[in-house]
Amino acid sequence: MPRRWAIDTRAWAYRYLVLRDGELCQLCHKVPTTFYGLDIDHVDGDKNNNRESNLRLLCRRCNVSLENKRRAVSPSVHGERENQRTRIVKGAVAYGEGSPEMQANLLFETRFRAWLLHYIKDNGFIPKHEAVNSGAEVVGCNPITSAKYLSKLTSLYGPLREIKGMLGETVIVHKNGSGSHKQPDVSTQQKETV
Ligand SMILES: [Zn+2]
Repeated sequence: MPRRWAIDTRAWAYRYLVLRDGELCQLCHKVPTTFYGLDIDHVDGDKNNNRESNLRLLCRRCNVSLENKRRAVSPSVHGERENQRTRIVKGAVAYGEGSPEMQANLLFETRFRAWLLHYIKDNGFIPKHEAVNSGAEVVGCNPITSAKYLSKLTSLYGPLREIKGMLGETVIVHKNGSGSHKQPDVSTQQKETV
């Protein structure tokens, strides 16, 4: 049984919880500023217990602080996840020498990649326009630049790919998953980008 949400399942669960509880953190009542911006929390800490009564929406901050408390109780599960994350970031970083422009570019690109890979690792997917626009904001570059970085990441040898989401929108997912995400079984047509 997958520990994390399948992409379509998560989207439906998210919508269900928005309808049920409103789109706000159930602990601090923060309203998200990004698309699908809240985490789905398992109240009892068991990620396999997907009963509606066990699910609620939390902001990233509340979820992380809750996860930290749970980690203190059972460190083994989460230690492995951290290592995977570190490996992904290290794999994404390519240090090099060059002109100041090249180095600035590398700095933005490295941060963009790290941010995007983290985001997808945590959420399973991201709508393409969010990857471009939120990414630009997070990294401090403009959306044309982040779109360029994104198309490298979704190129033939990049780690990510584009698929059609359940509403026909383009979403970005990991090519191979990372062991913890199930790929969607519908609409998996791959679209190459240049
Ligand atoms: Zn909160």
